[in-house]
Amino acid sequence: MKQVLAPVFSFFVAMIFLQCTSLAQIAPAEHSKKWPPEMTEVWEPIPRVVTPGEGTAAPSDAIVLFDGTNAGEWTHKDGSPVKWKVENGVMTVVGGTGDIYTKRTFGDCQLHIEWRTPAEVKGEGQGRGNSGVFLQSRYEVQVLDNYNNRTYSNGQAGSIYKQYMPLVNACRPPGEWQTYDIIYTAPRFNEDGIRITPAYITVIHNGIVVQNHVPLHGTTEYRGLPQNVAHGPAPLQLQDHGNPVSYRNIWIREL
Ligand code: MG
Repeated sequence: MKQVLAPVFSFFVAMIFLQCTSLAQIAPAEHSKKWPPEMTEVWEPIPRVVTPGEGTAAPSDAIVLFDGTNAGEWTHKDGSPVKWKVENGVMTVVGGTGDIYTKRTFGDCQLHIEWRTPAEVKGEGQGRGNSGVFLQSRYEVQVLDNYNNRTYSNGQAGSIYKQYMPLVNACRPPGEWQTYDIIYTAPRFNEDGIRITPAYITVIHNGIVVQNHVPLHGTTEYRGLPQNVAHGPAPLQLQDHGNPVSYRNIWIREL
């Protein structure tokens, strides 16, 4: 009760103070001294407690999408069980089986995902260790082996495919595990299906910011321009681009 009353009391004190004083005559330093600090303290509501994971482990309120044991949270587009290889705590693309999608749908979220391109380097450019993380099945954060591998800048690892090149190249060598921590805000559409705010993405690659709250132009297309057809919550999607890219420790927090 005391905690609730303190700011209320402070507010009235401040109001009386305002009545008696002309703020325009108070110098900034003096001004700050005369305002009770409690006046700007907010005590309610209280943010709920979330227990952090050790290292990159899932926090207590995360939905674990892959813990290394099975791909039960995922499916192919036709709803069939995942044909990618799950072995030794790792899920690996089997080329030609197709992309995989979460059974759950998501909007605004924080995503942690770890990926590894093949240690045995094959191909070049877009053909080397290519996969991708699609937010809401539409917006691709590129996964690619760009360790000494040149391709178009807005298509390299950490890019928002064909929209934003990464701020830096934060790639580890092929065969090493890498992390993406992604903060995503879904686009908003009005009742007529017109996009009123874009999607925003922040991407941290191996602890390094490579996308800083960039507004997306629409879907990330291989050919042509971004599209903005209205949609609601949608699955997270991982790309089969024919290369045996591996994933592990995937968790998501709805925001
Ligand atoms: Mg890709």
